[in-house]
Amino acid sequence: MAHLLSKSKYIRGLQCERALWLDVYQPRLARYTREQMRRFDAGRDFEYAFKSTFPAAIDLSAELKRNVDAYPDRTAALLDANPAAVLFEAGFQYDDVLVLADVVCQREDGALDIYEVKSGSTLSETYKKDAAVQHYVISHCRQVNSFSIVYANKQSDNSEYSDYSNYSDNSDNRFTIVDLTENLAAQSDTVASNIAAMKDILTHGEPATHTGQHCLEPYACPYQHYCQQGFRQMSLFR
Ligand code: SF4
Repeated sequence: MAHLLSKSKYIRGLQCERALWLDVYQPRLARYTREQMRRFDAGRDFEYAFKSTFPAAIDLSAELKRNVDAYPDRTAALLDANPAAVLFEAGFQYDDVLVLADVVCQREDGALDIYEVKSGSTLSETYKKDAAVQHYVISHCRQVNSFSIVYANKQSDNSEYSDYSNYSDNSDNRFTIVDLTENLAAQSDTVASNIAAMKDILTHGEPATHTGQHCLEPYACPYQHYCQQGFRQMSLFR
């Protein structure tokens, strides 16, 4: 089933309802700076470094590429077939929201340990909100044993990466791993309410939100050039 929202759209919607609307209906209007692209690349490199400590994992993105709506069924099949499955980019969908989890490890009892990888060196509120929507979706699909955020350890000594013999053991000092399971579970009602509000926004025309400080926080919005043009083109779109 095609999804309506993703975790990135959810985070965009928390920043600005107009940005959410543009993300869904006019994503080609987004413009990213070279610095933003460089940060995306650095984030991917850090994520890859963490993933490389799980040598036996199955990477769904290698098989399914951009066919994201196929990820949930493939994920379910792999988890059902292999009690000890370790998956990269495992897909889950609930409440019209599709999330792809960076690393998912299935325990013997079938519950999941989930790791979301972030390249920053602090545990930001945005990271927690990103994790909260993932936990909301995944916990409605499977039993979640733990949900952790992995971010950069400032005290890194650039030592070689080491494989985890036990995936829940932080054996590499380049990564800080924080278990947020209880905190994320407590946000379930808030996430559900936010999703409902976002779905409602998407049933209407483009919001006439004015630019302001919110265009820069927590991320520089990629639609600033469009919104700053001073005229609305939404009648062309819907
Ligand atoms: S530039 Fe500002 S007002 Fe326009 S979509 Fe982005 S955050 Fe919203």
